[in-house]
Amino acid sequence: MDATLNKLGFRGLDGHEIKRMIQTHSLKEPKRMRPFEPGLSHILSSADGVYHVVVHTSVVLRTLKWRKKGSGWVIINQIVDGKPVRVYISHPIYRTKFFVQRLCALAEAARARVRNIPSCPRCGKPMTIEEGKNKSYTFICRGENHRTRPEFGDWDADVPAKALCIVKLMRRKRASYRRNLKKTGRTEVLGRAREKREPWTSNPE
Ligand SMILES: [Zn+2]
Repeated sequence: MDATLNKLGFRGLDGHEIKRMIQTHSLKEPKRMRPFEPGLSHILSSADGVYHVVVHTSVVLRTLKWRKKGSGWVIINQIVDGKPVRVYISHPIYRTKFFVQRLCALAEAARARVRNIPSCPRCGKPMTIEEGKNKSYTFICRGENHRTRPEFGDWDADVPAKALCIVKLMRRKRASYRRNLKKTGRTEVLGRAREKREPWTSNPE
């Protein structure tokens, strides 16, 4: 996983940086995790430095071993007045099968997005990232002269094919999971319903 992230241009954060990041975001230590063990995280800046992609890996920084349980996730921070503002957070990736592939695909997709922020076709300004329904995201411009009808950009336009394939599979699985919950009225899919879920395959193409 490290090698893949390094190849994409991410670098590992050291303990101090992780501590500072936790303070900036005023994150609370998980209740079940005492004493708190910072996890290994990787960061990548966009060329203009406006965006940071951070990957939380679920690896304990001190021992460099996987946490017993836990999840990884990817966030995008936009730097506004020198401070990071979170504009994107992925669903948590649980440490089930193909955890590494899924996390790396999300990291690669986020990297492609911050490196290719589209310009608004109407005013030419770089678009911003905004959250929509069901944790979907989009590029958007709400320029002065187009306030009533904002301009949207294609969220997946520059995501490499292989990563996009995994990202889309994750979306499909979440959508079917939500449909299933609605149908059964449950808050969690249990037992036999689990068996009907779309399986992960080793080859996402
Ligand atoms: Zn615009």
